Amino acid sequence: MIDFGLPDYPRSTARLAPSRPVVLCLSGHDPSGGAGLQADIEALLAQCCHAAPAVTALTVQDTVDVSDFRVLDRDWVLAQAHAVIADMPVAAVKLGMLGSVEMVDTVLMIMDKLPGVPLVCDPVLRAGGGGALGKEDVGFAMRERLFAVSTIATPNLPEARILAELPEGSADQCAEKLLPYIEHLLITGGHGDESEVHNRLYLRDGSRHDFTCARLPGSYHGSGCTLASTLAGRLALGQDLIGAVKTALDYTWRTLRDAEQPGRGQFVPRRLPLDFS
Ligand code: PLP
Repeated sequence: MIDFGLPDYPRSTARLAPSRPVVLCLSGHDPSGGAGLQADIEALLAQCCHAAPAVTALTVQDTVDVSDFRVLDRDWVLAQAHAVIADMPVAAVKLGMLGSVEMVDTVLMIMDKLPGVPLVCDPVLRAGGGGALGKEDVGFAMRERLFAVSTIATPNLPEARILAELPEGSADQCAEKLLPYIEHLLITGGHGDESEVHNRLYLRDGSRHDFTCARLPGSYHGSGCTLASTLAGRLALGQDLIGAVKTALDYTWRTLRDAEQPGRGQFVPRRLPLDFS
């Protein structure tokens, strides 16, 4: 018997039970289940949030790499998002793969309907295996237009270098270039080769908070999605930004420590407990 921690309401009154905070996810679909919307849904479930997954793009990929993708038409994405917004109180929004400059502008149209709602932007440009999930123009459009309405962006260092147009830049140099565009910037260090991973949170007031963790062996598919959705979930739950970043980094590290290898390629974070008995 699964214990979800809910009172045992009779069926007719169950609707009166308070709902978990709703997080609208605008991300791509990854049929391997490691990244994209499935990662968002699993990570948000683990935070006790309700994921409302709206598809921005379809991808063809396995745990090794991506071979193709198709971005949905603007009208389809707007219709999905508006259906959710008209029906549920959205407590936070998480952005993953957008895939095109048009989709960046579509997100701006959606955020117009959600003033004041925290927005976590994971600037996805590449799959874990290295294949492109959008041209660099998409990153520049995010920087120029989307960052202004985002609470925080969560690039890894290679993504931060693309966004900052500093191919050899350090995290500090990239942050200096990007902070005029965005209030909070979390540059993750998982792609480096130091023995520890240095994740750095930059605030527009000039302060920097460092979160260091042990580097785990192997490479992972969906770690960035897991981090950004968890962070959106923690903000939806009302946690303060620095606390939410710490919780999201800790949770993501544990999902990587316990990761599985379901295919021939990268490891997939284990975001949910396996044993519900
Ligand atoms: N979103 C989609 C749909 C993807 O397919 C991928 C990677 O393959 C990502 C996001 C980013 O994955 P990661 O969290 O490994 O950076």
